[in-house]
Amino acid sequence: MITVIGLGPMGQAMVRGFRKAGHEVTVWNRTASRAEGLDASVAPTVTDALNASELVILSLTDYKAMYDILDGQPIKGKVIVNLSSDSPGKTREAAKWASEQGATFIDGGIMVPAEQVATDIAYVFYSGPEDAVRKYEPELSVIGKVKYVGSAPGLGQLFYQAQLDIFLTTLAAYLHATALIEAAGVPVTEYHEFALENFATVNFVLEDALKNIQSGEHPGDLANVIMMGATADHIVAASNESGVDPALPYAVKSLYDRAIAKGHGRDSWTSLYEVIKP
Ligand code: NDP
Repeated sequence: MITVIGLGPMGQAMVRGFRKAGHEVTVWNRTASRAEGLDASVAPTVTDALNASELVILSLTDYKAMYDILDGQPIKGKVIVNLSSDSPGKTREAAKWASEQGATFIDGGIMVPAEQVATDIAYVFYSGPEDAVRKYEPELSVIGKVKYVGSAPGLGQLFYQAQLDIFLTTLAAYLHATALIEAAGVPVTEYHEFALENFATVNFVLEDALKNIQSGEHPGDLANVIMMGATADHIVAASNESGVDPALPYAVKSLYDRAIAKGHGRDSWTSLYEVIKP
């Protein structure tokens, strides 16, 4: 038996995946109607939902919702897997809170949207006690491939945030670039295929980036910060000329400006790392 608390699109997709894989599932949701149509046992109270299984999966908007639901409830002996998004700091606090009450706490971040939960391409970062993750790996694997990243609480959440850092920024950049094209009166369809081609170039460029970050050396013989910073400036200008919001390229340009001010003008773009890191 698996208990799932939280029946937004993600929780619902997990329940469907568990049922398809042959697991019995008990669910609870603040708004009871969200359980309608799910082939699961609906617990009338949170306490009943907790009593139904050792494995309790949370799929909530944030960690505050977890406290709203579980504070004062009998969680001793439970293995709580919180797959809700929040900051790594809040996640660490939650792990401490749960262990003080005798529960095992695993945090995780699902790296696919609801429609891809429980499919072959789904994967989920987890951190917390490895023995508990491995014990429930058969069940957790239904949601997506288990990517265990370490015992430190919040690490799974951090890997999730890092992936979304790239994802959200990239999506915003795509929208910004598309807006520049459309502002010139060109149909957005004429640009889209070129946007997609960009990702192959990014993959190629990142091969060297890791080497530079690891070594702390940023040779800029082929493309340097002064040249790329000028390009960043031109994108800000293009935005301003066409009335497209310049906030995103301006943020990028400011990194180049600071790298130049720090003496990295002739170095590779990867030297921005020296400005970004703490
Ligand atoms: P929703 O926001 O749609 O659902 C969240 C659930 O949290 C609902 O069941 C809601 O209950 C419950 N909830 C929120 N606040 C409270 C509260 N104070 N007390 C009790 N219950 C509460 O989220 P999703 O299903 O889309 O996502 C769940 C988590 O997964 C989020 O952390 C999200 O960031 C993450 N995620 C989402 C993805 C997506 O594509 N949707 C992809 C990857 C991760 P109620 O129904 O009563 O409102």
